[in-house]
Amino acid sequence: MKAKKKDIRALSREEIREFFQNTGEKAFRGNQVYEWLWSKGAHHFDDMTNISKETRELLSEHFVINHIEVDSIQKSKDGTIKNAVKLFDGLIVESVLIPTPSRTTACVSTQVGCSLDCKFCATARLKKMRNLNPDEIYDQVKAIDQESKLYHSRPLSNIVFMGMGEPLMNYNNVLKSIDKITSEEGLGMSPKRITVSTSGIPKMIKKLADDEVKFNLAVSLHSAIQVKREQIMPFANKFTLVDLKEALEYWYKKTTRRITYEYVIWDGINDSREDINALVAYCKYVPCKVNLIEYNSIDDDSFKQASPHVTNEYINALEKNRIPVTVRRSRGKDIDAACGQLANKQ
Ligand code: SAH
Repeated sequence: MKAKKKDIRALSREEIREFFQNTGEKAFRGNQVYEWLWSKGAHHFDDMTNISKETRELLSEHFVINHIEVDSIQKSKDGTIKNAVKLFDGLIVESVLIPTPSRTTACVSTQVGCSLDCKFCATARLKKMRNLNPDEIYDQVKAIDQESKLYHSRPLSNIVFMGMGEPLMNYNNVLKSIDKITSEEGLGMSPKRITVSTSGIPKMIKKLADDEVKFNLAVSLHSAIQVKREQIMPFANKFTLVDLKEALEYWYKKTTRRITYEYVIWDGINDSREDINALVAYCKYVPCKVNLIEYNSIDDDSFKQASPHVTNEYINALEKNRIPVTVRRSRGKDIDAACGQLANKQ
């Protein structure tokens, strides 16, 4: 039975070396196998052509490789590609390749579904089914790297953890996947090119700071007024703006890296002068920049993107206070690949 055997990619290089030593083989085999698993992305023991048949059989008696499979690919007219990724147990998550003239960004999922309840997000409508394993997160990145080379003739340049799920609710596996992505036997990517986006879980943000992570942090703020934030992100009643601010101050003190606030402006929800002033005030606590995200409709009439006029008011107020602000245009909307739209429609 497949599920009974251990997933070999849950083992460290040292553990695989030990396995060989314990079975009377040379520990050196472990290095070869490890390389096949991570650098070369082997999905079957039989792919490991410099390993003898007996050894491959020994491996398959003890282990499985729970690799992902890109089940279907959808291509947007703007070049965005959405992968529906099938996991070893049949569950599906989505990841997205987003090309711009100068870079290719991968947007990856960290959970099947999501445990949080943001009212404006399609993923929130799926209940959380499980956390992804480190290799399942890594494999999404690897698949997009291959697609980037195939379709855009260049490797992947950036990664955002902004797909399905809340990364900080799957803390250990997310960090392990980033270790692999940044390590030489993985993709050797600089952590400066990686951004983890969180809905804002204060305790875990502090833990990131204590763990001295080197990647960037983005926080989905959407309102700097406590009661409003609770209306659109109900879990925020446990994780308050005051606690969030305190955690972000802690993060900045330890890392000296600027935070990015993600912010959608909705008609009649956070489009008033009071909302703008609250955001400007909140931005003064910790060095930051604001990324205004275009709202992507998820068939819910209660949310509508505010007018460009309001967006300009936000931009003017932030710029007047010397807070860097960018506007993120939606990509891949025609294939439901944009922020907040990942929900396995198929
Ligand atoms: N759970 C994490 C990461 C996934 S969501 C987080 O909350 O940050 C990635 C980003 O998309 C977040 O900023 C989220 O608030 C935003 N988002 C969710 N639904 C959206 C929608 N319908 N339109 C635009 N952005 C959305």
